[in-house]
Amino acid sequence: MTEDEYIKNLYIREDAVLEKVKRSMVDNDMPRIALPPDSAKLLYLLARIRGAKKILEIGTLAGYSTIWLARALPEGGSVLTLELEEDFARVASQNFAMAGVKDKITIRVGEALNSLRNLRDSGETFDFFFIDADKIHYPDYLEMVIEMAEPGALITADNTFWGGRVLDPADKEETTEKIRRFNRMLSAGERLEAIIVPTGDGLAVARVKDLPGN
Ligand code: MG
Repeated sequence: MTEDEYIKNLYIREDAVLEKVKRSMVDNDMPRIALPPDSAKLLYLLARIRGAKKILEIGTLAGYSTIWLARALPEGGSVLTLELEEDFARVASQNFAMAGVKDKITIRVGEALNSLRNLRDSGETFDFFFIDADKIHYPDYLEMVIEMAEPGALITADNTFWGGRVLDPADKEETTEKIRRFNRMLSAGERLEAIIVPTGDGLAVARVKDLPGN
């Protein structure tokens, strides 16, 4: 048995709802890139430990991670999730109803950067973020979410290893470079303290410092 299998056997319960969400991705020919369950469980725990009440997710897909996040919310908490594809948003919406968390979740369809600009301009703030959309915009997404972060907010992001490509100095592909830049921003950002947890494809976890700097 590997360490991964040991953790999964002991700590991860994917109930019928989550199994159905995964099946909906197959049935609708969606990319099979839902968050691995161990990363999802970590995300859930981080939201609970933070006591997150207002979560912003970038990249809904079929809503697998959104449901984990919604389940971490206290009474009255909410998740706003941004999705580019109308078809994916429709599947996710059905999944939220099926999971019984529809009332906690709002889906906003369209270019995430546009949605983020609108949210920022309207003065919205959040205490927990999960970034898992197109990787080319990761640095832009990070700049935007920092502006909307409450003091002590958590910023999390999936795929920060990019399948190991960020570790290969010979890989100069644009997406790889953007994720490297994102990871450096997490490390060097004056307002952030961060780490990558080596679960799944690398789950970054950053805390936005309280002003003026703790
Ligand atoms: Mg991902």
